[in-house]
Amino acid sequence: MMPAGIRFRLFPQAPFLHPGAEPETVWVSVPQGGIGPGPQDRRMYVVDPIGKMQHYGIAQLPNWASVPYLPPWDGPSRPPALPDAGGNFDYLEPGTRQFEMAHLYGAVRFTLDVWERYFGRAISWHFSPPYERLEISLLRSVDNAFAGFGFLEAGAHVNEAGEYHPFSLNFDVVAHEVGHLIAFAEVGLPLPEMTEDEYYGFHESAADLVALLTVLHFDSVVERLLETTRGNLYTLNELNRFAELSEDEEIRIAGNGRRMSEFAEGWMKEHELSEPLTGALFDILVDIFHESLLERRLVRPEVEDLADQVQRVPEYEPLVQALFDEAYAANPGGFKEALLEARDYLGFALAETWRRLPAESLNYEDVASILLGVERDLSGGRFARLMRENFLWREIGLVRVGPRLTTLGADSHAVSPRTVVPVPKPRSRRPSYRERWHLARQHV
Ligand SMILES: [Zn+2]
Repeated sequence: MMPAGIRFRLFPQAPFLHPGAEPETVWVSVPQGGIGPGPQDRRMYVVDPIGKMQHYGIAQLPNWASVPYLPPWDGPSRPPALPDAGGNFDYLEPGTRQFEMAHLYGAVRFTLDVWERYFGRAISWHFSPPYERLEISLLRSVDNAFAGFGFLEAGAHVNEAGEYHPFSLNFDVVAHEVGHLIAFAEVGLPLPEMTEDEYYGFHESAADLVALLTVLHFDSVVERLLETTRGNLYTLNELNRFAELSEDEEIRIAGNGRRMSEFAEGWMKEHELSEPLTGALFDILVDIFHESLLERRLVRPEVEDLADQVQRVPEYEPLVQALFDEAYAANPGGFKEALLEARDYLGFALAETWRRLPAESLNYEDVASILLGVERDLSGGRFARLMRENFLWREIGLVRVGPRLTTLGADSHAVSPRTVVPVPKPRSRRPSYRERWHLARQHV
């Protein structure tokens, strides 16, 4: 039976990293006829603006006090991507602007679908009201991607060889931005004076985990991960000695060896600060996967014991790998089921954790203790020990993060422009015609 929904083709990994890779067909959960030209639906719309040189956030205007610069784009835009007669978008060909627009929409929708399943309900935008829909735009002049109050913008990177790599085709990047929107919607935006530094690290971590668990919904990614490791995902976890095995960006980021004591003296970038938390949660995913392999009798307890010891006795590594090679070859389908089960367990547990987390005074210790509470409710403490061990290894709950060592710059990833919200009148005026002319003309 064909899945319900509307068809798109997505590259699970950025095509410039995998030349020659074909996009995969996915179905997004909008009923037939529910996606119009853009693409657009009742929750989001894609625009390809003409002449927009600046991303949303704080308007960068000479000689004006800073004003929020927020959607909607009301200038001219390029023609939208159109559905075919059956309402689908998978007929579009890579290399065209319309494909880029459909890919960007498809990546946002697909990510939202995955996480609405984990939340068990619709995720309401944090910017609604006043905005009903998310404005998703292509902004080829800016080398970054942003999501904030009512918008998600995908820029483009031009490398040294002059090749143009649009972020609209980079699933990881788009899913990460949707992750920020989900965290804003579900955890909230704290008052500035009630914000702990770890809130920013948490946000980056949540965005990376949204991207990681979403990308694990592509068959090709799951299969490549299992084929390269033969199910021995310990090779990717905390010590990170073999993380280069994985070609997948999100898995590389998640499999890191950072601990809290590295930030005790202070921190510079929120993405670095996020790594101990992301690393702990990734290692928890790996450990749950291995528990599931044991329970399914796909690996023997001795193998699991040896794998645990590899962290202390690296000489065991070849032996452990050989045992995994053998076990995986006997039942690759079983390994895949176990991995998807672990993925979904963590997805449901994180969704519930974020739902319970308060934005004010949020720190990593809270994340850990709320996750442990969720775990108790979901599975009666079955994974409590492995969770605790992973948090302790990262020194979460033992070491608090030091002060921010830099002032927030315009390039800060999580704070501005993501956290700009409309301010009460009279300051929240629309930019004048002259200001808008500046915005449209100015290169940043
Ligand atoms: Zn981010």
